[in-house]
Amino acid sequence: MKYVYVVPSRRLGKSLGVNLTPFKTCTYSCVYCQLGRTTCKTVERKEFFKKEEILREIESALKTNPDYVTFAGEGEPTLYSKLKWLLDRIEEKTAVITNSSLLWRKDVREDLMNADVCLPSLDCATEKTFRRLNRPHRSLTLSKVVEGLLEFSDEYGGKIMLEIMLVKGYNDSREELEKMAEIVKEMKVDVVHVLTPIRPPASDVEKVDAEKLLEAMRFFKGCAIDFPEGRDFDFSTFSSLNEAVRIMSRHPMREDQVKEMAKHFNASVKDVEEIEGVFCKEFGGIKYYFYKK
Ligand code: SF4
Repeated sequence: MKYVYVVPSRRLGKSLGVNLTPFKTCTYSCVYCQLGRTTCKTVERKEFFKKEEILREIESALKTNPDYVTFAGEGEPTLYSKLKWLLDRIEEKTAVITNSSLLWRKDVREDLMNADVCLPSLDCATEKTFRRLNRPHRSLTLSKVVEGLLEFSDEYGGKIMLEIMLVKGYNDSREELEKMAEIVKEMKVDVVHVLTPIRPPASDVEKVDAEKLLEAMRFFKGCAIDFPEGRDFDFSTFSSLNEAVRIMSRHPMREDQVKEMAKHFNASVKDVEEIEGVFCKEFGGIKYYFYKK
């Protein structure tokens, strides 16, 4: 398979990922990008690969019974000019993960109307941080991106899951978070996912700690908040529960996720709670577990 791949996703269940661009063809070159630096920074929409070929692969991979067909991949999927053509032909539930950079374009917003779920991102609220963190194509400005995001959230009838990636020393200041919260308040979003990089990023950047994530969540009250890190958990890579709880220093876990982790090691949630460094806090009626060395 050239364009599709199956990934487990806590947010979207079993997801059939579809890549629509050549490797690192993107409108941004984010410092936290796990794929490395962008090699083709562009805002020009194109049919990078033949739409019929992509559709054929999707159709043949549908036998894996995915919960969602998710357009994401190795670059910005809205750069693919035949996105609507594909979305119109897929009867299964669809999702698009986008960096929001082209939502100011009417054709891009129209293309997305047929997707069941959209996961746009917004990482900052000031032009300076935008240039430093997302390193956008020179033709893009943050005000243009925000304008598009607001228009899209107004027009779109599906579910919007907004992603905010926090990077230490870039967009985690009180001022930036407050301004971001103002923008998010204007949007119609179903859920906000506050994340921090957990895989080796393109540049030498640091993740924020669990307490900063919790602090950030407070700024987005009024929106449902969730940590979508489940898909990144692979407990089989840890030899013990004591080792696995370290995940929670980067990503707080909900109680159900802690239960799952404990089960993997034939232990209980109580065993997790007794590990030195583990503590929990409640937010929005949900219990979150943290770990601090
Ligand atoms: S928008 Fe996504 S693919 Fe593009 S550089 Fe940023 S993280 Fe990487």
